[in-house]
Amino acid sequence: MVQTAQIAVNDANIHFDKLYSYKIPSHLAALAHIGSMVLVPFGKGNRFRMGIILQLSQQEENPKIKEVQDIAPEQARLTPELLQIVHFLKDRTFCTWYDAVKTIIPYGAQYKPTIIDGKACLKKQIIKHTETQYTLLHPLPNKPKPSQKQKLAETLLSNGSKTISTLTEKGLTRSVLDNLVKKGVLSKQEVDKTLHDVSAGLNFSQEIFLSQQQQKVFEGLKNHLNGQPATALLHGITASGKTIVFIKLIEETLKQGKQALVLVPEIGLTPQMIQRLTAIFGNAVAVQHSALNHTERLLQWIDIQKGNAKIVVGTRSAVFAPLEKIGLIIIDEEHERTYHSESSPRYSAHEIAKLRALSHKALLLLSSATPSIESYFAAQNGKYHLYELTQRYSNQLLPTVEMVDMRQELMQGNSSQLSNRLRVELAQNLKNHQQSILLLNRRGYQTVAMCSDCGEVLKCTACSVPMVYHKADQKLLCHYCGKTIQPVPQTCPVCQGKLRYTGFGTQKIEEELVETFPHARILRMDQDSTMKKESHKILFDKFAKGEYDILLGTQMVAKGLDFPRVSLVGVLGIDQMLFGQGYRAYEIVFSLVTQVIGRSGRSDLPGRALIQTVDPRNSILQLAAKQDYKTFYNQEIAFRKLNLYPPFCGVCMVLFTGSKEQAVLQAAVKFSEILAKTAAFRPDLPLRVLGPAPLNIAMVNHSYRYKLTIKCKPNKEFRELMRQVLEQYAKQGLPAKATVVLDMHSDADL
Ligand code: ADP
Ligand code: ZN
Repeated sequence: MVQTAQIAVNDANIHFDKLYSYKIPSHLAALAHIGSMVLVPFGKGNRFRMGIILQLSQQEENPKIKEVQDIAPEQARLTPELLQIVHFLKDRTFCTWYDAVKTIIPYGAQYKPTIIDGKACLKKQIIKHTETQYTLLHPLPNKPKPSQKQKLAETLLSNGSKTISTLTEKGLTRSVLDNLVKKGVLSKQEVDKTLHDVSAGLNFSQEIFLSQQQQKVFEGLKNHLNGQPATALLHGITASGKTIVFIKLIEETLKQGKQALVLVPEIGLTPQMIQRLTAIFGNAVAVQHSALNHTERLLQWIDIQKGNAKIVVGTRSAVFAPLEKIGLIIIDEEHERTYHSESSPRYSAHEIAKLRALSHKALLLLSSATPSIESYFAAQNGKYHLYELTQRYSNQLLPTVEMVDMRQELMQGNSSQLSNRLRVELAQNLKNHQQSILLLNRRGYQTVAMCSDCGEVLKCTACSVPMVYHKADQKLLCHYCGKTIQPVPQTCPVCQGKLRYTGFGTQKIEEELVETFPHARILRMDQDSTMKKESHKILFDKFAKGEYDILLGTQMVAKGLDFPRVSLVGVLGIDQMLFGQGYRAYEIVFSLVTQVIGRSGRSDLPGRALIQTVDPRNSILQLAAKQDYKTFYNQEIAFRKLNLYPPFCGVCMVLFTGSKEQAVLQAAVKFSEILAKTAAFRPDLPLRVLGPAPLNIAMVNHSYRYKLTIKCKPNKEFRELMRQVLEQYAKQGLPAKATVVLDMHSDADL
C-alpha cells in the first residue's frame, strides 16, 4: 500500500474536472494535508500544473500512478472552513474545483511552478515580510554639530521606534539613519510588517448617542450576537442611521473578542463608509479594495489570517477573508447586483456569508433602504429577523417629491432634456448656495445614430448594440467591447443617407447645464470621468467640501453618499429603465429612484426632488417618490407569485456562447433535448424550461449568445440532474460548438 492524494488540478474544464490520484513521495509526506497546494505532472506530456489535495488515501502500489512533485508550505494551506467553501462553490455554482480555490486564495498566495536547477518545484512570489525599524538609543552628541536631518531623526524617534517607510515619508533617507546607527545613536531592527495594529480599535473616541428608535433596533440586533447563528434584515429608510447602528454593533463584536466583516457593493463608491470605520477603528480595519496589487493583497491576507485585522471591509470577494473568529457579517445595500459574481464561480456573497455565519455562529446582518424582494420575503416569513428604522435621525422629514411631466414640457416648446421646472429649482439652489444632485444613468453625449433615409441604426460591428457618441473625444464608442470609430461618421454606411444623432447622455446634459448656468460649478461623474485610481474618492471629497454646486452623474451618484448641503435631487431619463428587460426591472428602478431621492435633505436643510418622466402617474415612480417600500413590495411579490419568479422558484440560466451562430443555437437545442430526456425520469423535480432564445444583446465581441432559462426548485437533486446533463453534453462533443455556463443567480436578462 502507498500513500496517495486525490488532487484537483488547475485549468481543468467543467466537463472534465475530476480528482486525480498521485503518490506522495516519502520526503513530502509531512507536508501533505487536505487543503495543501501541490505541483503535479499532468497529462501525456507531464506538463506541471498546480493542484490542491482534497482527499488522502492508501492505495495498492501501481506503477501507473504518478508522483506529486512538490508541496507548498503550511501557510498556503486552506483551513477546513475555507475548504468547506471550496466544496460549496463547486456544488452550487458548477465551477471547477480549482476555480473555487483561486477565488478564495488571492493570487499572491498561490505558488507558481518554477524550474530551479533543472527541477520543477513550487515558488512563491518573493515578498518581503519584514521591515527595518529604527530606535533612538542616545541623544545626539553636540560635536560634530548635528545636521538638520539628524536633528529631525532625533525628534521623530524621541517618542518611540519608527519604521523606515514612516521615516522616509518625513524626508529622511536610509543613509542618514544608517550613519546614526554607526555612531551608536540609533539601533536598527528587522520587524514583521503588519498593516493592522492588534492593539488598535478598542478605545472608541467619539461617543455616539442613538435616537430612541436606533437604540431599540441596536439592542434587538445586539441580542443576536450571542454565539448562535442568525440572519437579520435591517430595513431602514434613507438617512435613518443604519451606518451608526453598524458601528455600535461592530464595537460590541470587538468587545466580545470577535471580528467583523463588512461588505459594500463597490469600494470606489463607498468612501464615506470606509472613512467612518477607519476614523473610529483606525488600524484595526483592513480595506480590501480593487486597487491593491498582488503583494499588498497577499500581505493583507496574511495579516488577516494572523488575526491582526479585527474588521475587514471590502467588496464581494472580501466574503472569503480568512478571518477565524467572525462574530458579525454585514452586507450593506444588500439588494445591489454587484454581490453576484458574473464570472466563474458565479456565486452570491449572500450565500457564502450565510455559510460562514453558520460555521462561525455569527450574526449575518443584511441592510438596505430597499431590500431585495427575496430578502424581505424571507423576513416576512420569519426566516430572517426583521428590524426597521422608519425615521430619519433627529426626525428630519423625507424630501418632498414632484413629478415633472415631460410631454407637457414638450408641448410648451421645451424640447431639451432639462425641464423648465428643474431649471427653476436649480437656479434657486444656486442662489441659496445649496448643492444639487442630478441622476442620469447613461454616459456619453448622444446614444443613437440613425440614418434619416433608411432608418439604419449605427451598431458596433462586434456587438449588437448602438455605438454611443462621445463628444469630448470626437468618437463613437461601444460600451460593451470598447471599440471606437473616429472620425465620427456623418453618412449611413448602408445607403449613404445622412446620419441623425439623437438620445442623450451625461455629457450632453452637462453641456446644457453649462449653457444655462454659466457660473455654476458642475461636476460630472460617470465611467468616463472617473477612470483614474481613487478618482471617485477625490471627486466626492471635493463635492463634500463645497467646491461644486451641481453633481451630475450615472448611478454612481445615487447611492450611499451623505452630503449635508444637498437639498435638491433631479432624476432624468428614468423612463427607459422601466421598460428594461428582466423581471427585476421594477425592483431596480424603485431602488435607484428611492436611493437617489434619499441623498436630499439628510441634515438640517429640508430636501426636495424632481422626477422627470413622460408617465407621471407610473406607480413605481409614485411609490419611490413616497419611499413607500412596503406597498411596492406587496405589488411586486404578488406579481412574482402569479408569474412564478423568485422567491417562488429558483432560476437557472444556461448560457451558450460561440463564434458561429448556427452552432451555438444547435448546441442549445441539443442541451434542452438532453435535459428533457434526463428530467423525464425525475417527475419529482418540477421544471419549466424557456428557450433557447438569443440574449437581449445577442452578440458581444463577435461571440453569439443564447440562453435557456430553467425555473426550478434549486435543491441538491436539481443540481445533480444538471450535472448529468452537462456530462451528456460533453459526451456528445457539444462543447466544441458552444461553451456552456450555468448561473443560478443571473436574472439580468430573463
Ligand atoms: P443611512 O446609512 O441609513 O442612510 P447614515 O448612517 O448615513 O444613514 O445617517 C444619516 C446621517 O445622520 C449621517 O450624517 C449620520 O452621521 C447622522 N446620524 C444618524 N444617526 C446619528 C446619531 N445617532 N448620532 C449622530 N448622527 C447621526
Ligand atoms: Zn462592441
